[in-house]
Amino acid sequence: MLSKEMQDALNNQINNEYYASYTYLSMSAYCESISMKGFAFWLRRQSHEELEHALKLFDYVIDRDGKIVLKSIEPPQSKYSSLLKMFQQVHEHEKEVTSLINKLYEQAINEGDHATTVQLQWFIQEQVEEEKNAREIVDKLKFAGDSSSALIILDTEMANSSSQAPE
Ligand code: MG
Repeated sequence: MLSKEMQDALNNQINNEYYASYTYLSMSAYCESISMKGFAFWLRRQSHEELEHALKLFDYVIDRDGKIVLKSIEPPQSKYSSLLKMFQQVHEHEKEVTSLINKLYEQAINEGDHATTVQLQWFIQEQVEEEKNAREIVDKLKFAGDSSSALIILDTEMANSSSQAPE
């Protein structure tokens, strides 16, 4: 069975994943509002992936005979000034999630909770991909600058991008 501390930490992480999902959904709405359909699609898919992360932890807590305590989700930011700034935020957000997952992992190691360390390894690997994707989009948006044609090409590319989450 999970320790009370580990159970609380995992419940918090479930809430963090829901907040991430909400944030990406809000970003997707901004992209819809400026008719950047490809970016909107990418962010909506990302929002869905965050829900899957939350449910992966949800199922894990239940499998370990832990108690699920769902908390309220903070409202995400609703105004964004540019695609570049928004994706810089995405990148910062993913780096923050990585440090939260790393902290959870260290906690599991300190408790000698081997099952939780194994479970969290998937998330550690996932974060490498998440940070890389965000970084690449930020780089491309910097290259595109104010060029409408470059942004439209990028938008099309985002619509066709495939998700490469680890299995
Ligand atoms: Mg996540």
